[in-house]
Amino acid sequence: MASREKLDKCSFCGRGKKEVTLLIAGIDGHICDRCVEQAYSIIQEEIKKNNTFDLSGIKLLRPKQIKEFLDQYVIGQDAAKKIISVAVYNHYKRLTQPMDNDDTEIEKSNILLVGETGTGKTLLARTIAKMLHVPFTIVDATVLTEAGYVGEDIESILTRLLQAADYNVEAASRGIVFVDELDKIARKNDNPSITRDVSGEGVQQGLLKLLEGSIVNVPPQGGRKHPEQKLIPVDTKNILFICGGAFDGIERKIANRLNTKVIGYSAAKEVDRIERENLLQYVAPQDLKSFGLIPEIIGRLPVLVHLDPLDKEALRSILTEPKNAVMKQYKKLFQIDNIELEFEEEALQYIVEKAIEFKLGARGLRAICENIMNDAMFEAPTAKVEHIKITKEYAQNQLDRSSIRRLKAS
Ligand code: ADP
Repeated sequence: MASREKLDKCSFCGRGKKEVTLLIAGIDGHICDRCVEQAYSIIQEEIKKNNTFDLSGIKLLRPKQIKEFLDQYVIGQDAAKKIISVAVYNHYKRLTQPMDNDDTEIEKSNILLVGETGTGKTLLARTIAKMLHVPFTIVDATVLTEAGYVGEDIESILTRLLQAADYNVEAASRGIVFVDELDKIARKNDNPSITRDVSGEGVQQGLLKLLEGSIVNVPPQGGRKHPEQKLIPVDTKNILFICGGAFDGIERKIANRLNTKVIGYSAAKEVDRIERENLLQYVAPQDLKSFGLIPEIIGRLPVLVHLDPLDKEALRSILTEPKNAVMKQYKKLFQIDNIELEFEEEALQYIVEKAIEFKLGARGLRAICENIMNDAMFEAPTAKVEHIKITKEYAQNQLDRSSIRRLKAS
């Protein structure tokens, strides 16, 4: 009979119990800690190889299916979703169809989303990237400057995309870049004192190079801090650029073009707002030009989409309906402690009203909820309760005690 000593060895490397830190017993053998670690790294390598960024196995989703996917995460914005679904479908086709010999080349349809802050521009872009399984990055146009100025070079956009793709250049060159606050790099031609427009036209020219598709030498670590780094050439031909901006004031340009007057512009704010809501849906390339975007950039953003401001009903839906809705997240957090969390409908309505009152839009829903929920999240895990109900009174009390109420004054 084999001695116990002989049996207690790793079935993979043969090391005895004394030679290893830990030996885990299975039905018919053992495995040591070292082999577990090695096996783990082999698995990781394999996962990396079958990288999720691989497009070859992905089936082409039809525009309707793309919209259905977006519906799970983004409330409302139907018009925008439809246009984006078609643009993404076409982008998909470009990526997955082999190039044949006829010379019809499907051009890239970069997208420009115009809408107030907090209406879902970033969320739309992020959701598309999630669906496509491609590397995705968000850059803020306001930090971009022309080379030589303080700020980030245009190439840094691609550095971030490369990082998001784990330096897989092929995957990065089919990724999606969301350029936020594009309106902030509009030409400021009404200010003659600026001799060089550091954050305006020069940046637009730089961005144009990326949008139209060219091979850009990208510093893998970004910035100018590592001048010795080897540059990586990245072809931007297949990178989908989704730009977003609030374009504050563009409604006046639209109104001018439509040859109408913005009724009550200098009068009640409410009227101004209604006009803005109505006018944004008519946004056209020439309005972007009057706003200060160079025509070449506009030409490279052929899919122009407007986003609707979010009303009470939309905000209420955002609280509970999207796949990762704020309320679902709280419920899950409490569930982990075996606590059932319930929100009274009036409490939800109250949160929505506060978000509107504080002019925080959808972005504020979470901040308000955090202020309401913080005490409960602090107490509950030790309080041995099984059920918590958030009533309107509770929400009101918590919010009145929190710092967020100061927003009211501003
Ligand atoms: P922006 O238009 O400024 O890019 P975001 O997409 O960053 O706005 O929205 C901020 C947050 O508000 C998102 O993380 C999301 O939780 C919520 N949100 C905004 N719009 C919507 C929407 N239409 N549907 C669902 N959630 C939304």
